[in-house]
Amino acid sequence: MTNVRTQAHSRRQRGFSEVTNVIRKAGGIAWLLAALASGLFAQNLAPAQAPGPAESLYLKLRSVGLDKSRVYKIRNGAIDQVSIHLSFDDGTIAFTEDAGGHITGALFLGDGDILLSPPNEAERSSLALFTGAAILEEKFSLAYLRFNDDVYDALRPALRPTEDAESFVNLWNPSAKELAQEDALRLLVSFNQDPAAADRAPDHLLHAYLRGRRLGTFDVRYDSTLQEQISAGQHREADGGSYYDVWLSFTVPPPGKPALLKVQAPTPDFVITQFKIQAHIKVPTELSARAVLNIVPNRAGERVLLFELSRLLQVKSVEAEGRPVEFIHNQAIEGSQLARRGNDALAVFLPHPLPPGQPVQLTFEYSGAVLSEAGNGLLYVGEHGTWYPNIGFAMSRFDLEFHYPVGWTLVATGVPSEIKVEGSEQVSHWVSERPVPVAGFNLGKYSRSATTAGKVTVETYATTTVERNFPKTADNQPLPDLLGRPPSPFPVVPSVPSLPPSPAQNIQAIANTAARAIDFYSQRFGPFPYSDLALTQYPGRISQGWPGLIFLSSYAFLNSDEREHLEKDKAYRLIQEQNVAHETAHQWWGDLVTWSSYRDQWLMEALANYSALMLLESRDPAGFHLVMQRYRDDLLNKTHDGVPLMNAGPVTFGLRLSSSRFPDAYEAISYGRGTWLLHMLRTMLRDAQRSPAGKSSDEPFVRVLRKLRTDYEGKSLTTAQLIAAFEPELPHSLWYEGHKSLDWFYQGWVNGSAVPQFELRDLKFTDKPTSVLVTGKIDQEDAPDTLVTSVPIYASVGGKNIFLSRVFVEGNATTFHVSAPLHTRKIVIDPEQTVLARSK
Ligand SMILES: [Zn+2]
Repeated sequence: MTNVRTQAHSRRQRGFSEVTNVIRKAGGIAWLLAALASGLFAQNLAPAQAPGPAESLYLKLRSVGLDKSRVYKIRNGAIDQVSIHLSFDDGTIAFTEDAGGHITGALFLGDGDILLSPPNEAERSSLALFTGAAILEEKFSLAYLRFNDDVYDALRPALRPTEDAESFVNLWNPSAKELAQEDALRLLVSFNQDPAAADRAPDHLLHAYLRGRRLGTFDVRYDSTLQEQISAGQHREADGGSYYDVWLSFTVPPPGKPALLKVQAPTPDFVITQFKIQAHIKVPTELSARAVLNIVPNRAGERVLLFELSRLLQVKSVEAEGRPVEFIHNQAIEGSQLARRGNDALAVFLPHPLPPGQPVQLTFEYSGAVLSEAGNGLLYVGEHGTWYPNIGFAMSRFDLEFHYPVGWTLVATGVPSEIKVEGSEQVSHWVSERPVPVAGFNLGKYSRSATTAGKVTVETYATTTVERNFPKTADNQPLPDLLGRPPSPFPVVPSVPSLPPSPAQNIQAIANTAARAIDFYSQRFGPFPYSDLALTQYPGRISQGWPGLIFLSSYAFLNSDEREHLEKDKAYRLIQEQNVAHETAHQWWGDLVTWSSYRDQWLMEALANYSALMLLESRDPAGFHLVMQRYRDDLLNKTHDGVPLMNAGPVTFGLRLSSSRFPDAYEAISYGRGTWLLHMLRTMLRDAQRSPAGKSSDEPFVRVLRKLRTDYEGKSLTTAQLIAAFEPELPHSLWYEGHKSLDWFYQGWVNGSAVPQFELRDLKFTDKPTSVLVTGKIDQEDAPDTLVTSVPIYASVGGKNIFLSRVFVEGNATTFHVSAPLHTRKIVIDPEQTVLARSK
């Protein structure tokens, strides 16, 4: 349901119903480096030829050991890197051997301290959640450091000779060499860029692995090339899965700036303007391809270009402008974010740094078993990472040519030309109508059905069978859900319906549902971006939205009897039934407008989900409320250690939310809470312009979404930009403390995690000639003191609720006075449930 492809679902991530891509490009290599930051890299190098200069240095960097001539006693040494303070009070330190003329690491044994204080409340809460304290202050006994600055020189005044250098090195060298692997590619990038290029961002790296006395082994990282330069976290095992828990991650605020910055994503190092891919498919699993990428650098000095590519593909060659160039296909280690996406890193070394703006054409030849076969006549790509070299989701043009056996139907992103038959092969050709963030295809022995929505053709493709393991997932884990639902604490593996369902029977109904959704969204958010929408059956619970193409879960093809058989809970069934509408909404939110960093990914889920729910509400208001209540209840659900799921953090933590503490929090929060946040914005605007007759309109809310579509089509959107788009629509009654601003909402609701409870007390009713003056207090409980909420209050007169006004409730208690109709003797808070709050 995201537009992010990829994804090998690891067993432990069964809670993810959607393909999710944690850390997206935050600027060229930065996204990948961030991905690398969260996981180790393995040993294997793809090409087995004699190493070139880049690869030689890389091999050295990833296996560098300690230098016997650089072992010292150290006393009162310290490293201060931005807000990280490391002190080495007393112990022994050994620096690493030269690698390309650089000392890049050190291993310390003794007594040390780290001090690191996050600059904002959200990160302090996150740190406290994992470590029990809002400041990272920890004594350590062992440290391994990796750096690209002259740390050796900085520590030199604290160093004294030692006698037992040899035994120290012998003892610790194996550990040092193993730890050297993780940052090798990152350092190689540092040492391969043109240091003279003036417009390159400063490049400082300090990565410390620490054995804490209280917290165990964890790591802390400063990387000036990342959008969030400072991070800390820990690998942990839980429920049979391994996680990297991100304790904190933040952008260093410039001096004098507020701690909670609305950060704009940095410009990527380069963009890919066009992909021309020729792919040969050998059923059931083999793909071999030649991909030509047009690359335009954004700044000078780039020599190393980093891409992601599926782990199952082997690169045979890379050429720049027709000349072979060096590349490293670096295998990601199990458990890293990159590996979870099914991808490896692919680094390409150009012979010369690129001047800005001068395009370069790269040609990749690669092959491997990247397709999956789920059943008879049901193949798919995308489970195992990206099938072409890519970076992030910048908008590009795609020209795709596929060769595949006769008898199969291939559906890809873009507009098809006529299919040619050449012997036992078919050839089809697909060209994107406009720049799109990604391209994909699906292959099967399908039946087809079609309808139209205005000028848009809507086609559905499905086979007569479901995947072999239906209704269980491949690894026999309890099923993850279609939309935003954490697994039940009592997993029930449903029994198979008496006959296996046949998706092909329901293809017309699916096409009609998608067409209705297109009509509904087009009226509100502007026209459908492409001339055609194809929905193809996709095995498993996951659906994926690509531009003009939806891989739709086999489960979405169930008829209502089959669905009821598998899901007894009405709210969850309703959620599942919105699957087609949710995926269709991603064509606007996720494919046309993309998101900026991992902190903004929730936007696309929330926008797609809320769009689908607005459609539901237009037909079934009671069903809409049932779903909203389920999302709220899921946030309040307690994990097995008794902590409510909402405590995992705010929507802006993205995939960080799913940690060893809360394996399923990403869904509950980015879908559930995210959907609620949009509902709160919509109903605030709606209440603010209610006419005396009680009539209200969605126009201001819809107008904002329409403007977002116009302003951000073909671009990425940040959370701050979304909030800013709502501000011009704020009527005076929604100005908190006299400011036409939603800062209070951004701070407390978007960057907060509370689900408060409201209570009325001390009510006084004073009769006036034509009205009743009501005064009283509203308590806000289960919320931080700083939380501000716009709460609607109603008069209850003669069994009817009459809207009075919205009140800003801040902190624990707020006094209000409002005018109510004659005879009012009862006041109620938010009877229409427009605020995410606990009921009593
Ligand atoms: Zn989605």
